Amino acid sequence: MSYIEVKEGSKLSVPNNPTIGYIEGDGIGPDISKASISVINAAVEVAYSGNKVIEWKKILAGDEAMEKTGKHLPQESLDEIKKCVIAIKGPLTTPIGEGFRSLNVTLRQYFDLYANVRPVKYFPGVPSPVKNPEKMDMVVFRENTEDLYAGIEWKYDSEEAKKLRWYLKEQFGIKLTDDTGIGIKPISRFKSQRLVRKAIQFALQNHRKSVTLVHKGNIMKYTEGSFKEWGYQLAASEFGDSTITEDEYLKSPGSAGWKVVIKDRITDNMFQQVLTRTDEYDVLATTNLNGDYLSDALAAQVGGLGLAPGANIGDVNAIFEAVHGTAPKYAGMDVANPTSLILSGAMMLNHIGWNEAGEVLDNAVHAAYSEQQVTQDLARQMNVKALKCSEFGNEVIKRMKKIK
Ligand code: NAP
Repeated sequence: MSYIEVKEGSKLSVPNNPTIGYIEGDGIGPDISKASISVINAAVEVAYSGNKVIEWKKILAGDEAMEKTGKHLPQESLDEIKKCVIAIKGPLTTPIGEGFRSLNVTLRQYFDLYANVRPVKYFPGVPSPVKNPEKMDMVVFRENTEDLYAGIEWKYDSEEAKKLRWYLKEQFGIKLTDDTGIGIKPISRFKSQRLVRKAIQFALQNHRKSVTLVHKGNIMKYTEGSFKEWGYQLAASEFGDSTITEDEYLKSPGSAGWKVVIKDRITDNMFQQVLTRTDEYDVLATTNLNGDYLSDALAAQVGGLGLAPGANIGDVNAIFEAVHGTAPKYAGMDVANPTSLILSGAMMLNHIGWNEAGEVLDNAVHAAYSEQQVTQDLARQMNVKALKCSEFGNEVIKRMKKIK
């Protein structure tokens, strides 16, 4: 087996036959994983004519792991992902009462996958609830390891909650009633800035116009508000020559030139801005909870969760996954839309530097949509025949052409 290696500065050394891990996932996971792996393999074959090939390594997690090993996320699976460096996963059910908040959150924290990257772009032909879905072309960088997702919370009647209420009252004079559960929202400078750094680097590398810091700092001043301040500070200290603040830009619009404009918006306003001024936004950098809400809302504008890809990226490992969950009502029926996982595969190919294959894959998905080849989630809104999940994968493969 040939594993991808990580060199200094997070650079990947990718052999021509890298071993890449895949987790099938629960619910619709096995259906969409099967379709996606066929499409990814076909894109690699078309782009490199057999000179490059992925050697897939199945990694157990979720319900299947529980059945076979008695654990939802066995240590061997974590070790295997570490070895592979790169993995792609189907959605996983959140097991109740096993000490896990969520398998997904556990994976993100275990591998310190601090940037959750979610591109949202319109495919012509896809039904949308808005008038101009083609204006949407945003990439969300969501902080993935802290905020309310850090899992620091206690039930109202736990000993910990009682002690904390007592402490708050004794030390700070803050009175909370006995029926109050408590959660803690940690937001640190280091973790905020490494996320904003990734977003700005992405914007510069991909010639994007702006990075908007999305925060609720008017209310949560020392968490969300600090996220904004630290974001601006980082932009000035590390990217002073290549970025400009929106204030500076508005005073002298010609001054931006090729520079990336750094803006900020309060979260509630942002939810309306993405609808009313869609094309004024580009890359968004935000905290964990904001990013979760916002990326689903953005996905809805361009046709829904079935089309939304994502990546969890750290300095070493990266795990690519669909934004949606296990959609249990469609489990095992071969009817789910595999596009989100297929496009996560394109992100994965680009991440390992196999951009030609990523482009083949992206173009083929575009072609399938422009010819109204869709699964039931979209077909029911378009009055066209629905393809099965596997059939959609085959239609995408049929539309792959070698790129020059
Ligand atoms: P969900 O699985 O995302 O499904 C919600 C709805 O979205 C589905 O009922 C379906 O809508 C639509 N949908 C989602 N993916 C689709 C696809 N590929 N093709 C077609 N339609 C799709 O959300 P949920 O029901 O709230 O969550 C179910 C489980 O997934 C939970 O255990 C949750 O914890 C887990 N989850 C896992 C992840 C992850 O692994 N990263 C993420 C989110 C949730 P219609 O009913 O309108 O057809």
